[in-house]
Amino acid sequence: MAGIGEILPRIGTGVREAAGVEPFAAALERRGLSLVRGGIATLQVNTGHLCNLRCRHCHLEAGPERTEIMSRETMEAVVSFARRFPFRAIDITGGAPELVPDLPFLIEGLAPLAPRLMLRTNLSALSGAAREPLLALCIGHRVVLVASFPSTNPSQADAQRGAGVTETGIAVLRKLNAAGYGVEGTGLELDLVSNPVGAFLPVSQESSERKFRQDLSRKWGIAFNHLYTFANVPLGRFRTWLLRAGNYERYMKTLVDRFNPSAVEGLMCRTLLSVSWDGFVYDCDFNLAAGRPRGDRKAHVSAIRKLPPPGAPIAVGDYCYACTASSGFT
Ligand code: SF4
Repeated sequence: MAGIGEILPRIGTGVREAAGVEPFAAALERRGLSLVRGGIATLQVNTGHLCNLRCRHCHLEAGPERTEIMSRETMEAVVSFARRFPFRAIDITGGAPELVPDLPFLIEGLAPLAPRLMLRTNLSALSGAAREPLLALCIGHRVVLVASFPSTNPSQADAQRGAGVTETGIAVLRKLNAAGYGVEGTGLELDLVSNPVGAFLPVSQESSERKFRQDLSRKWGIAFNHLYTFANVPLGRFRTWLLRAGNYERYMKTLVDRFNPSAVEGLMCRTLLSVSWDGFVYDCDFNLAAGRPRGDRKAHVSAIRKLPPPGAPIAVGDYCYACTASSGFT
């Protein structure tokens, strides 16, 4: 019998995506819409696929067995890029960036170059005494911490991320609060990211934020600044899970049915560039996961002499429907 890897349509190689789904580009065209670049404000830096967790929804299929991480040489190229083209915000993500040995070098290089430097964390990778110097560095540079925290229901969250992960995350959130993160008046911003724990769309960001604030405060005395809710993107491990469960086509239909034309204008890919662990440039982290570089061919940050101008096309795939469902992924 064929393994799941043999029967999955391979994205980025021209093989079909979801059967019966109108291609995303055609859906835009039919409505007189186009997805093109605006002014670029954010640089996203993906430090690699190494992670201490193996979450079910991960579009990058990150995990402990992955070896791809950003080298110091690539970090130097990224810092030089950010110096040549000032960005309003820089967003460091992974995998688990905390596991990348030269992360402090990257933070120190990027912090002076943008008014807002963000570091994504799954929280558990930030736990333990070995991470104290990293936390001190983040405090010193006023790095915004963006922590994934899928649900305030520990059994639901652990089902997605692994047994005991919520308990560790709560301990880290308490520690961050004690250090001033998420606490009014400190200037240390702590944001949370929640995504559905199954094949359904998130409820509105406003009501989720209200619920998370109440639950986290009541159950564990934890405070935070903002909550962002995102739909799971049907790529990587989440896509494999949907296919195995026979839910892929249904999930795609849900995304297509909830297409919101007014979300297109605010999509993050209009104003963001994403750099992979090996230094290549993509329109977003999802195109990176799908192996769809921006432009005609892969370009390395060290070779880029000008940013894509407003109006430049953006590479799209059927997974883009996850960004335009309901209120959108902005
Ligand atoms: S996946 Fe989302 S962010 Fe990426 S190109 Fe498509 S619409 Fe834009």
